[in-house]
Amino acid sequence: MKFHLELTDKCNAACPMCGRTKEMDRCLPDMTKVRNIELDLDLIKRNFTPDLCSRISEIDLCGGLGDPPAARECLEICDYFVGFGIKVILSSNGGLRSEAWWKRLGELFAGTESLVEFHIDGLEDTNHLYRVNTRFGKIMRNAKTYLETGAIGEWHFIPFQHNEHQLADALTMSREMGFSKFRVIDTIRFGEKNGFTYQLPDGSLQELNPANPKLIDALRTDTEKAEPAAPQDQHEHRSTIRCKSEIQNRPYIVATGVVSACCWIEGSEDERRMYSKAGVDQGLTHNIRHRPLEEILLEEPYRTVYPQAWAQQANPVCVRKCARMQRSRRSSL
Ligand code: SF4
Ligand code: SF4
Repeated sequence: MKFHLELTDKCNAACPMCGRTKEMDRCLPDMTKVRNIELDLDLIKRNFTPDLCSRISEIDLCGGLGDPPAARECLEICDYFVGFGIKVILSSNGGLRSEAWWKRLGELFAGTESLVEFHIDGLEDTNHLYRVNTRFGKIMRNAKTYLETGAIGEWHFIPFQHNEHQLADALTMSREMGFSKFRVIDTIRFGEKNGFTYQLPDGSLQELNPANPKLIDALRTDTEKAEPAAPQDQHEHRSTIRCKSEIQNRPYIVATGVVSACCWIEGSEDERRMYSKAGVDQGLTHNIRHRPLEEILLEEPYRTVYPQAWAQQANPVCVRKCARMQRSRRSSL
């Protein structure tokens, strides 16, 4: 099985489209959502027992409201999982921590399948326009130090109008630095407006616009690696929901300790309804700070309430993500 963990909701960056950011208030953190909490090593060890770890193939340390290296025991937690032969995929903006820290992480991952996805959306003069509050030079030094250990690293790039002209240079730089992959993320967060206004920390207004897809296609040499595109027609969809989390057996755990089916449904009205039908208090009963993870996963709403809802197409989030496939698309260049 697999897991997706939000190690922490702390972050050094303030990406305007992130759920933690108040995009029209100088990209300050939304303290109604951010609690500055994290999962620590003791809690992880208590729930991810050696027996459970022996059945896990992969763990994603990614988002939702935080950058994993911001968790105090991120390195120790990676060490714990890698010790069981688990593939760890750590997503980061790369801007936190010292070069010595990234060297230690690289030494831990080197020779294994574990990897870091560095989310770098541009070069020196553009990356901070989306990855607000990060410094490109520091990110590059951290990435270089990590890659020099021989560990696997990927460069993930969200193309916007303001950085699309740098795609080719970033791709070349990624090859020179030793990144194993350069992946373009086609975000669906623009919605129908095709634009997103936000306020930088200095008070100035900025606009994000999607990149020209033709520019990306021109660089594409490996189209077969592209995941299927989201259907253009909002009403065109598969007749059945195929739950990604169920297929991959990949539950999500939030930094609060709460267990959820996946990061899309977590915190949504759909999820509240599932728990209300199950008669379970999610915050208290389905929280690894209070009860063992393995018990939680065997209980409702996972046993029958979710499958019934999928059969009835009752959850709009599930329909959108796992029938209409409205997901961000990643492709390798
Ligand atoms: S780096 Fe990730 S967690 Fe941090 S603000 Fe950006 S999207 Fe959110
Ligand atoms: S959105 Fe619904 S169907 Fe899709 S992975 Fe999450 S719980 Fe499963």
